[in-house]
Amino acid sequence: MNEVANAEPADVEIRPGVRRPDWSVVTLPAAGEALRARSSSRSGLIDCWLVALNPAEDLVWRRALVLFADLGRAPRTAEIAADARLGEESVGHILKTLQHHDLVGLFEGDGRIVTAYPFTDRTTGHIVNLGARRLNALCAIDALGAGAMHQRDAVVESRCRVCAGPIRIATADLGRAVSTISPPETVVWYDTSYDGSAASSCCTRIAFFCSDGHLNGWLRASGGRSGRRLSVEEALQVGRALFAPVLAEATAPREEKSERRRIAQV
Ligand SMILES: [Zn+2]
Repeated sequence: MNEVANAEPADVEIRPGVRRPDWSVVTLPAAGEALRARSSSRSGLIDCWLVALNPAEDLVWRRALVLFADLGRAPRTAEIAADARLGEESVGHILKTLQHHDLVGLFEGDGRIVTAYPFTDRTTGHIVNLGARRLNALCAIDALGAGAMHQRDAVVESRCRVCAGPIRIATADLGRAVSTISPPETVVWYDTSYDGSAASSCCTRIAFFCSDGHLNGWLRASGGRSGRRLSVEEALQVGRALFAPVLAEATAPREEKSERRRIAQV
């Protein structure tokens, strides 16, 4: 398969055979348009992501996210080091590299993780229930993508940005589909502004609204924003395309070849 010919704009091979965003899950036109709008207007973020991580960096990134969900909070540097079987100092350096790529956010004082997209220790108003854990997600899209990333169903709890009415979304099919939406008229605003840190720019404005009426009123009051209105199903596809690849195992052609060679030799 020719990956270059089939690739949508601005995806990155984050490990052998795993591309982010995963365009294969994007079937709804508005979800594809939102991701493309993001690629064109968030060039800073895409530039960060275009740097491929080395295997140790990739390991620390993935283990940090697995531990985040297991512990229900940001893992300490020493916990990641023990889990990944790496030195604590080395993990500290790697976390700084991951922060440079805007994949994690660190506490300035001691360098520990505060944010590892889609999760953060900060209170954001977007809760993801994964198993017994209640986690804060950075934004509506991150909250909707977290289940697919961990290959389990999630319940997202948030509030309308305008009236603070409760919003609850449950997923099905291991986070890959929407099961229930309350209220059913809920929509998502997908903001595409970016200033070097998603957590401090677009994430703060990627939110749920209980209705189109409240979204439109908010857009009018904020004097025009760059972004897209998405249904919950469309927003889940964007979240899934962005976050499902993050913990996906490599499907390395080279490893398959060597495996085949080993079998042939036997
Ligand atoms: Zn509302």
